[in-house]
Amino acid sequence: MQLYNSLSHKKEDFIPREAGKVSMYTCGPTVYHYAHIGNLRSYIMEDILEKYLRFTGLDVKRVMNITDVGHLTSDGDTGDDKMLKGAKREHKTVMEIAKFYTDAFFADCAKLNIKTPDVVVPATTYIDEFIRVISVLMEKGYAYEAGGNIYFDTSKLDKYYVFGDLSEEDLEVGVREGVEADGNKRNKADFVLWFTKSKFDDQELKWESPWGVGYPGWHIECSCISMKNLGEYLDIHCGGIDNAFPHHTNEIAQSEAYLGHEWCNYWFHVHHLNTTSGKMSKSKGEFLTVSLLEEKGYDPLVYRFFCLNSHYRKSLVFSWDNLDNAVVSFNKLIDKIVPLTQEPAGEIDKAEYDRLRKSFDEALGNDINTSLAVTAVYDVLKSKANATTKLALLNDFDTVLGLDMVKKAAAKAEAAGSSAADIPAEVLELVEQRKAARKDKNFALADELRDKIAALGYEVKETRQGTEINKI
Ligand code: AMP
Ligand code: ZN
Repeated sequence: MQLYNSLSHKKEDFIPREAGKVSMYTCGPTVYHYAHIGNLRSYIMEDILEKYLRFTGLDVKRVMNITDVGHLTSDGDTGDDKMLKGAKREHKTVMEIAKFYTDAFFADCAKLNIKTPDVVVPATTYIDEFIRVISVLMEKGYAYEAGGNIYFDTSKLDKYYVFGDLSEEDLEVGVREGVEADGNKRNKADFVLWFTKSKFDDQELKWESPWGVGYPGWHIECSCISMKNLGEYLDIHCGGIDNAFPHHTNEIAQSEAYLGHEWCNYWFHVHHLNTTSGKMSKSKGEFLTVSLLEEKGYDPLVYRFFCLNSHYRKSLVFSWDNLDNAVVSFNKLIDKIVPLTQEPAGEIDKAEYDRLRKSFDEALGNDINTSLAVTAVYDVLKSKANATTKLALLNDFDTVLGLDMVKKAAAKAEAAGSSAADIPAEVLELVEQRKAARKDKNFALADELRDKIAALGYEVKETRQGTEINKI
């Protein structure tokens, strides 16, 4: 497969270090609040990458951290402690906040059919490992103590800005966020490995270390959790594009300084989900969550479908209108599958199966082109293959796409069957009249018809997925 590598700025053939196996690391969430649907765009696209690698027969081991300590509001080691901020906001301890939002994150992932990585490690469970790696960095002369904190010395590296193409503004992380730069740093790009002089008097989580009581910086967790679980060499590292600098740049600096050789071969960065007014961000306080989508009547998998219709290396604009368009297309897609679920089982047409599977495989094999993969789904439906072949292909594709296409179609077919059978013709007729009245915007008549339907013992509801009729 071809995969765009942020390190080389081009698409490359993906060749795992060990034939048949892939080691994959993902930066996990900072659990001080709910994940917003922008964060989840990154996790959806990373999920697709993992599942596609498995689809091609590779054995993937995927590891993810949970950031429950050390992440400040500015990625340049300044600003407030995000976890403390969350704890204060909700009058809870940091660990209570971490537990609550970790659970909430995985609940959201489940609703979006995002697989939980094979290994998930909260940063607070790896403190000894961070201290061990930081000690080695000190011994090797890559780290220094200043003002009570331990910093990584970026001037010791031949090349620090590994991802290149960053503007001056991108590099000025501390300044950009309007907070004071740290005067202890020898070089502007140096970063904290261990804090002992916390500027937060009420710092809750602290551990003994050779440098005094304190807590780790944000970046060290991912290097340590990855190296400990996936070894000295990593095939793919993923994250949102904002992680490239400084987080991933710092991860590379400290991992390679520690190991003494190159560390990760491919860097996969998902571009942002933006709102019409700019980047979606948790710290802005107003953000969209999976629960909000559900409250508004959207099926979370419609959001997954919405994400699949655009490429992960392009930013994507979220608006309710755009999501409504996705609802319409998704419903039409499921409706096309419904009749297939009613056909008797037959023989799989091998030639058609292979041809159609190949085009799906080629779409994703070309740098995870998910919108072309969705087109491959429509191609299956348009093809001359029999229903059994089509359903087999859709189920196969769904191991990657994760849209529950056949399951939803079967449920719709069953619901239609039972409603047609159980609901009196008189009620169904009134429902049809009501639909027409609503279409004509004759709401008075629509209300009147609803009352008539209710008088016959049925309740009619318009949802984004269509009209629902239930017995009262
Ligand atoms: P955080 O919980 O802030 O550590 O972020 C979790 C993941 O979401 C990281 O991989 C970020 O790079 C990613 N991310 C943050 N904001 C967005 C966004 N607006 N769109 C897509 N991904 C994002
Ligand atoms: Zn990370």
